[in-house]
Amino acid sequence: MTTCQEPIVIVGAGHSGARAAAALRKHGWTGGISLVGEEQCLPYDRPPLSKAVLLGKKTGEQCALYAGSWYAENGIDLLLAQSVDRIDRHSVQVMLQGGRSLAYHRLLLATGSSINSLTVSGADLNGVLPLRTPQHAHAIADSLQSGSRLVVIGGGVIGLEVAAAALQRGCTVTVLERAPQAMGRSVPAIVSEAVVAEHRHRGVDVRFGVEVASLDGTIGVQSVRLSTGEALPCDIVVYGLGVRPNADLAAAAGLSTDNGIRTDPYLRTDDDRIFACGDVCCYDSRLYKRAIRLENWRNAEDQADTAARNMLGQQVPFDAVPWFWSNQYDFALQVAGLPSLGTETKVETIGRSRLFLSTDAEGVLRGASAIGSIRDIAGPIKEFKTALAATAS
Ligand code: NAP
Repeated sequence: MTTCQEPIVIVGAGHSGARAAAALRKHGWTGGISLVGEEQCLPYDRPPLSKAVLLGKKTGEQCALYAGSWYAENGIDLLLAQSVDRIDRHSVQVMLQGGRSLAYHRLLLATGSSINSLTVSGADLNGVLPLRTPQHAHAIADSLQSGSRLVVIGGGVIGLEVAAAALQRGCTVTVLERAPQAMGRSVPAIVSEAVVAEHRHRGVDVRFGVEVASLDGTIGVQSVRLSTGEALPCDIVVYGLGVRPNADLAAAAGLSTDNGIRTDPYLRTDDDRIFACGDVCCYDSRLYKRAIRLENWRNAEDQADTAARNMLGQQVPFDAVPWFWSNQYDFALQVAGLPSLGTETKVETIGRSRLFLSTDAEGVLRGASAIGSIRDIAGPIKEFKTALAATAS
């Protein structure tokens, strides 16, 4: 058992921060843990927000990672609705807004990411929402009445999951993406085409290369005007335009940042006492021999555990194979590795599902994507992950 007078302070009470607090206890830390977060609500799980909550199968409260009592029961001092002003590395403490300070034995930065805002005129009209928090999910779910006209701006994972839920709720749905393909950062064009075909087949109007010029309405949004002049009448607009890492606190403390907070393979920053995990962490990947930053649920889970162990003195490299999933309608999408590093994609059929293997110019397999039923695709994706994991060094 490890203990010490100062607590381990975790900045960021999102998925990765809360899981790291649990992992510290699991791996034997008996000292104090302070978990500081800006949001009012208990740390929550995000995947259900764009799926089960929109379909009315779950409430935002049911997405909490742990009950409120769990934190006190585990000796975790949960400080909600508090933001950290700065890190004083010299005196080894963090300063909270309002003047309070917390000394730390180790500091974990799990500050996550912030959504890119919609900046066109009319973005502040009623009925225009992002999807990031349980409050957003409830507000969107309330608006998805049968017959409502939804325009989704951004054809990323959020946009397509919202489109799928809205269509199932009886809405008319249009998706506007400015790039030439959907989910362009996560999957090869051929995979995106297969996913978009599923949406179009069910009646979603998916458009590419589209620029939104303005949102029009009086109090509430009534139409989306495109740069071509076309106006799309609507009752609700949801946007998912990607995220950016919250690395300002680290940068202001003089830590290296570049597309997030830079760490070594042990998730340690250039200060031995400070670690990072989750969306904000840009780590040296031994698998890919380059710095990478991942924005997904599995990464938030896995890095939380690795960072906790290394803060307690272990020396565990973070070698997990990148992996994410999305459920839309009755099909699953799973993506492992980094298909974006591939230059060629080979397609294999498994029953009624498809597996897409992305190889680079040297013929090395860099990523695997699959669409279809979980029963068909889980096995091949797992095999790919095992093979790729064996190459880490
Ligand atoms: P995303 O996957 O990065 O997609 C955002 C999309 O919006 C991009 O294709 C982007 O195109 C496009 N876009 C940006 N500005 C636009 C504009 N003005 N008009 C039209 N299109 C525009 O991000 P996201 O869907 O917002 O999701 C946010 C984060 O949540 C991501 O990290 C995502 O991975 C995560 N998430 C994950 C899951 C899952 O794992 N199942 C589910 C939901 C969310 P450009 O590339 O050209 O900018």
